[in-house]
Amino acid sequence: MTGVTVVDHPLVARHLSVLRDRATPSSDFRRRLSDVSMLLLFEALRDLRVREDQLDTPLETTGGMRLADEIVVIAILRAGLGMTDGALRLIPEARVGHLGLYRDEESLQPVGYYESVPRHAADAEIVVVDPMLATGGSAVNAVSRVKRDTSGRLRFVCLVAAPEGLAAMREAHPDVPIWCAAIDRQLDERGYIRPGLGDAGDRIFGTE
Ligand code: URA
Repeated sequence: MTGVTVVDHPLVARHLSVLRDRATPSSDFRRRLSDVSMLLLFEALRDLRVREDQLDTPLETTGGMRLADEIVVIAILRAGLGMTDGALRLIPEARVGHLGLYRDEESLQPVGYYESVPRHAADAEIVVVDPMLATGGSAVNAVSRVKRDTSGRLRFVCLVAAPEGLAAMREAHPDVPIWCAAIDRQLDERGYIRPGLGDAGDRIFGTE
């Protein structure tokens, strides 16, 4: 599917296998999700613009570089919180926003309840993160809300995507590229991704 990159790497696949395993406890789940988020974002940000710079080593002056654009990571609450630590380890200078959306259990439609996006330059690089792209309702809604307030370049990074969610995102936001570790088989009648990994928020926070 155009605009969708499945990050194909043995370490990403290994992290994902452990995350799928129901026997993985919350503490390991959080650490693994953080680590695999770093790897996914590393790939997703491969084309960041850079600016040449000069710096002094202990021995001499040499050429260096700095990131040309401001980076804003926006986590869709609550499961997106599981990806922000990895994002900040990868990009310490990034700023973090939060969008609170929950999925109505009956309609499966997203309902917004919180919004905090840091001020940023008009040309900032904006990465919206959520581990699970299921129906796509939350992602489509979140990206629409971000677009309303910014002219920055947007990307979406998730761990597991359902074909239904990818199709919804491509239709609503064909200009927003997507990165994931896997495209799973389908959604079930409760809106869970199969085979998936269960409820990512519950697994991160131990709330099941
Ligand atoms: N959200 C989750 O956390 N898991 C799913 O399978 C679908 C949506």
